[in-house]
Amino acid sequence: ALLGPAPGAPCCPHGPALLFVKTSQGTEEGRRFYACSACRDRKDCNFFQWEDEKVSEARLAAREEYNRSQQPCFTHRQNVDRYKNFVLLPLSKRRFCQECQQLLLPAEWKKHSDHQFLSDVTTAQLKSPSQLLYPLENKKTNAQYLFTDRSCQFLLNLLTDLGFRRVLSVGTPRLHEMIQSKAAQEEEFNVRSLLLDIDFRYSQFYTEDEFCHYNMFNHHFFGGEAARETCRKFLCEENGERVIMVTDPPFGGLVEALASSFKKLMAMWRETEKEGHDNREMPMFWIFPYFFESRILDFFPSFSMMDYQVDYDNHALYKHGKTGRRQSPVRIFTNLTPHMIVLPEEEGYRFCTVCQRYVSSGNQHCEICNSCTSKDGRRWKHCVLCKKCVKPSWFHCDNCKCCTLQKHSCEKTDSGCFVCGKAGHKRSACPSLSRS
Ligand code: SAH
Ligand code: ZN
Ligand code: ZN
Ligand code: ZN
Ligand code: ZN
Repeated sequence: ALLGPAPGAPCCPHGPALLFVKTSQGTEEGRRFYACSACRDRKDCNFFQWEDEKVSEARLAAREEYNRSQQPCFTHRQNVDRYKNFVLLPLSKRRFCQECQQLLLPAEWKKHSDHQFLSDVTTAQLKSPSQLLYPLENKKTNAQYLFTDRSCQFLLNLLTDLGFRRVLSVGTPRLHEMIQSKAAQEEEFNVRSLLLDIDFRYSQFYTEDEFCHYNMFNHHFFGGEAARETCRKFLCEENGERVIMVTDPPFGGLVEALASSFKKLMAMWRETEKEGHDNREMPMFWIFPYFFESRILDFFPSFSMMDYQVDYDNHALYKHGKTGRRQSPVRIFTNLTPHMIVLPEEEGYRFCTVCQRYVSSGNQHCEICNSCTSKDGRRWKHCVLCKKCVKPSWFHCDNCKCCTLQKHSCEKTDSGCFVCGKAGHKRSACPSLSRS
């Protein structure tokens, strides 16, 4: 279990580590320890330290040395200068090393001579780094799943229609990219975006005002105070330019760690306004699977989940309903008033006047629950015994005294549910998820 960011926490290459404790059946057991905030796979970062461990001077020095050695070989500033030189090159001299994922200047060609490279890198390619770079898909750390054009376009139209002129893009490089290229192409398009992401490869394409190397699990700005200041400045709503934060974190991530960072970003926004935002929250879209609804609402009670299905290019399973193999479970959570979030009717979404929000076509308004209860887009059915709507594939089991899959074993499994910690069911069947 995560105990959270702790003052004076030791650092790994990904910034301050988080404090954890081993739990068994919901109770804390054993010593607390620090582990990497960003990597859930020991292979990616094996940082570990007991909370009460005495670390020798020598080991501290070695750790600092190691952390330095793990930082990228060029600074963001250097990358910006390199980019300036790169765009001056004729097309025939513009190479991108696919192995090192790096733009190459002619003097460096030799060093990469046995690497695969792309030549004749066009300006259009430089403006679409998310297409040029390969997605870092390793599930446990980066989990880089890029929006389809449909979803990205929808998000952008939605937020511009709502009147936002600034977008804090936290882990949404493709949205950032779409905003940047539209702004460069269309004079009347006056939306700006700042990308915060842990993927440092993006620093090759964006200036310090457009990209900050950031870890959203511990709110760490790798660029230090200057980068933090860039972010703070961006959040100042000068000339009435309203800002919204859009984030699409790795789904394997720790919700409590994310929530803690997002609250810090919200606080940053609140502090920028001299007159105060009269207790308003910074508007936010948090894109995450529907089965995390109750976890997100625990931290952000003002949020609600929209029915819109967000889908991805490089995710075989999370594709759009009609064309993909399966419906995407990914939704938009927002603190904006639900009725303002207009979903496309041509994709089957319709407005429920009772719920005052757009719902998916299969989502029927249940008279007993008095709400449109489907979470996954299919029509759910009401169970009088459970007193709530459940998935269409479920039935009421008299043994378990709840609705569950037809095929289940009534005997308790010893590994508890990922969501509520109770034994007997898996995350997907957790009764606490469908609270209405
Ligand atoms: N759908 C989005 C991408 C989401 S994938 C789009 O198309 O724009 C998750 C993103 O979060 C990736 O860009 C990844 O690099 C970033 N990310 C992963 N771990 C992170 C961390 N600890 N801090 C900040 N960003 C992170
Ligand atoms: Zn780490
Ligand atoms: Zn190379
Ligand atoms: Zn309804
Ligand atoms: Zn039931």
